Amino acid sequence: MADFHFCCSECGLEYPEDPALLVCPECAKSQAPGGATRGVLEVRLESLPDRWPEADTRDPRFLEAFLPVRGAESFPDYAAGGTPLTPAVRLGKALGFDRLWIKDDSRNPSGSTKDRASLLVAAKALEYGLETVAAASTGNAGTALAAVGAAAGLETVVFVPATAPEAKLVQMVAYGARVLPVEGTYDDAFELCLAACREFGWYNRNTALNPFTIEGKKSAALEIARSLGSRRPEVVVVPVGDGVILSGIAKGFADLRAAGLIEDVPRLVAVQAEGSAAIAKAWSAGAAEVRPVPGAHSIADSLTVEAPRNGRLCLRDIRESDGGAVTVSDDEILAAIRELASLSGVFAEPAAAAALAGLAAAREASLVDTPDAIVLLVTGSGLKDLPAAARAVTRPEPVPATLDAVAARLRLP
Ligand SMILES: [Zn+2]
Repeated sequence: MADFHFCCSECGLEYPEDPALLVCPECAKSQAPGGATRGVLEVRLESLPDRWPEADTRDPRFLEAFLPVRGAESFPDYAAGGTPLTPAVRLGKALGFDRLWIKDDSRNPSGSTKDRASLLVAAKALEYGLETVAAASTGNAGTALAAVGAAAGLETVVFVPATAPEAKLVQMVAYGARVLPVEGTYDDAFELCLAACREFGWYNRNTALNPFTIEGKKSAALEIARSLGSRRPEVVVVPVGDGVILSGIAKGFADLRAAGLIEDVPRLVAVQAEGSAAIAKAWSAGAAEVRPVPGAHSIADSLTVEAPRNGRLCLRDIRESDGGAVTVSDDEILAAIRELASLSGVFAEPAAAAALAGLAAAREASLVDTPDAIVLLVTGSGLKDLPAAARAVTRPEPVPATLDAVAARLRLP
């Protein structure tokens, strides 16, 4: 059993575990509606393991050592995490990087890294005896919640922008979630979910609001550190929308350093879409505040957010890691889908391919260098948004079923 308390990321006030507590009540008093969340709570474990658990990283006995649960039995039977960290030698050669790895989180059961957060939130809901969990989502978080909920026997309610990619909508409905496509933006869905949870007494999984979302996502960092061992990563490149994934990665490495299991934390490079770059703009300007981007837009639906809810904490985490932030265009994201797939065999959704697009931008900005040990976090599968991927390729026309036609099409001699 891992004892823990909450600590406000802004004012430092500490709170005991409380299912009803989402953000710091003191800091929330200055919260403007529709803005970055003030007073995001971080989990502080009273003790951390002083050696790596023997269990596999996907095993609940590994997770219970690092996550705030009563025990391994708190986790529903759902195989989140434990995704491969693969050397990307061909891709590295093509781009001029000596040591490049891909952390392929598209290999989670629902196809995205969001399974990690949903697994922990579901475990906490089960511990608390709560029956219904709701989330606002651009698509992947809701899909992950629906999937884990199906495995755990929890009712799930998902608020998504009505423009969410078809595959994600279909997937979450198939898992049995009650899905509400909201006529509006992700930010509208977020506020509606918040109000609905208050009104109907549901447990709220919204990212940057439920403290267990950042905490759950840290398992990706634990796995990266454990896999690489002494070949420690110097840079982790993370696609950023509301900033929760990056803060989760930062928390994982921070816990490992506090536990004495690693000496240094890697630099974290945030990649945002040009049309949805509130955090990157604040970083470039050296600003303390993350200002919303009205009308935020990108081909990467998972990165499209007007007001990054976790913007303030994400900015702190980027700075404390000595990292940085870059932006990429939709065209660069589309090119990266194809480049990543054809040089590494990993098919990524636009938001995930943004990590690769951001690598080039990060080198231009002198945030990374050729010999650095770099990990690209691929956050979601390309199968989740085929229409976007289709824009990155030219679909071949049918050919007659003859060898002549094959030779002519492929320009064979
Ligand atoms: Zn506070």
